[in-house]
Amino acid sequence: MILVSACLAGLKCRYDGKSNENSKVIELVKKGLAIPICPEQLGGLPTPRIPSEIINDKVFNKKGENVTNQFKKGAKETLRIAELFGCHKAILKQRSPSCGFGKIYDGSHTGRIVAGIGITAKLLSQKGLVIITENDL
Ligand code: SF4
Repeated sequence: MILVSACLAGLKCRYDGKSNENSKVIELVKKGLAIPICPEQLGGLPTPRIPSEIINDKVFNKKGENVTNQFKKGAKETLRIAELFGCHKAILKQRSPSCGFGKIYDGSHTGRIVAGIGITAKLLSQKGLVIITENDL
């Protein structure tokens, strides 16, 4: 079973209440080969929500509120699901402060991209999951 970012599977779980539909990810879910998760929802954040970015390993939303604990909770819950379903691979949404792998926003909320890894992607990677992004499909 492959863990996939729920927004790639067409769920409207993004901060703005939209999705990032990816036909290949949706096909995997339809075939029963992938399970969609949204770490930010699993961390208890609402949808829609104020967008957040990482600064020095902490996460702040655009209003300046520290939401690191919610992001860490979401990462732990995601790992729990990955373990329950025996997932060894994940396809995660590039640039997200939760799911991003290789590239994330720089923390300035200006759209600038830097090399980095989201909170959930980091935990899953540390636990040995192979992570790719929608750009690798
Ligand atoms: S946390 Fe991940 S799954 Fe949820 S909306 Fe953001 S990129 Fe998509």
